[in-house]
This record gives sequence, C-alpha cells and structure tokens, in this order.
Amino acid sequence: MSEENGFTLWFTGLSGAGKTTISHLLATDLEARGSKLEILDGDVVRENLSKGLGFSKEDRDINIRRIAFVADLLSRNGTPVITAAISPYRSIRDEARELMGDRFIEVYIEASVDTCAERDVKGLYAKAFSGEIKEFTGVSDPYEAPENPEVVIKTEEHPPEESAAILLAYLEERDLIPAAVAS
Ligand code: ADP
Repeated sequence: MSEENGFTLWFTGLSGAGKTTISHLLATDLEARGSKLEILDGDVVRENLSKGLGFSKEDRDINIRRIAFVADLLSRNGTPVITAAISPYRSIRDEARELMGDRFIEVYIEASVDTCAERDVKGLYAKAFSGEIKEFTGVSDPYEAPENPEVVIKTEEHPPEESAAILLAYLEERDLIPAAVAS
C-alpha cells in the first residue's frame, strides 16, 4: 500500500439510512490504523460550502458536484475521503465516478423508506409525510438507487459496527489501507 493511496468512499442512500453513523465508526477504525481521512458529510457541507442551496434538482446537483470536486482534490493527493450525502441522482454520481476513476468507490447504504421513517431520528419523515417539508427524498422527491455499486450495506440487516467492519474488510481486500497489526 502506497502513501499516496487516496480513495473516495462515496456513500449514497436515504436520509436516516445510516451514512453519517457508519462514516464516523469507519473513521475511528481507520484512524486507529494510522490512516488519514476526511469526511464530507452532506449536512455539514450544506452548512458551509453549500450554504444557501435548497433541494431543487438544480441545487442538489450543484451541491453534489461541489462535494465531488473536493473529494477529488483530497483523494488525488493521497487523502482518503468518505462522502456521506444522499446524492439521489445517478447521473451526478456517475459524473463523480468519471472524475475520480479508480479512486471512486460507490457504497449504497441501503434501508427502505419505511425503515428510515420508523427510525426518523431527526423527525424529518413525519414532516415530509405531513407536507410540512417539501421535496423530501424518498417521500416527495426521487431517489435513484445505484445499479452497480462497489459495495452494498444493508443497514436493516447489520448494526452500524458490523457495517463499518464490512467496509474496513473491503478496503483491506483492495489493499487500500494498511493491514491490522496483530496484537
Ligand atoms: P444518514 O446520514 O444516512 O441520514 P444517520 O446516520 O444520520 O443517517 O442516521 C441513522 C440513524 O439510524 C442513527 O440514529 C442510527 O443510530 C440509527 N440506526 C438504527 N439502526 C441502524 C443501523 N443498523 N445502521 C445504521 N444506523 C442505524
């Protein structure tokens, strides 16, 4: 494994599917191995880099292109990145893939609308179903699931720690992170 082994784990999935939760657990695991890492979380990006953007298709596309731009800069300079944004549109994810080539690893964080609505950690689904929030992905706005993602993580089947472990094993398998040091 080379020092310059940047990659982007591009998480996509519905709100509440587990993207943020799994990204943080994986970050902890990677840091324990001495790996650098940046997380570009959709909610955080919308607070700064994309502040002021809304949820129309146009604004969503701009937001995702910005995330892809930064992920590309970091990963091509050897810093691994996890992006954790819904990124609902296939065509923009494919643009990101084209930009990053082999460094792009699409990870479908999969959970049904029903499951996410049941979790409803932020109370957003209740508001989406009542119409208080418009253009809510999976309820009143499209979500285009990936057709050939490198990894699928079914969060209805795996607790978050297990999901992080699956991704860690995948990265090891591809020789993108240092192997665990035997204790
Ligand atoms: P997203 O970033 O995809 O919107 P979050 O990680 O913010 O999702 O929220 C997912 C919520 O669902 C968290 O509160 C998490 O604790 C909870 N959760 C319950 N079961 C799971 C699971 N199996 N995997 C991931 N998250 C889960």
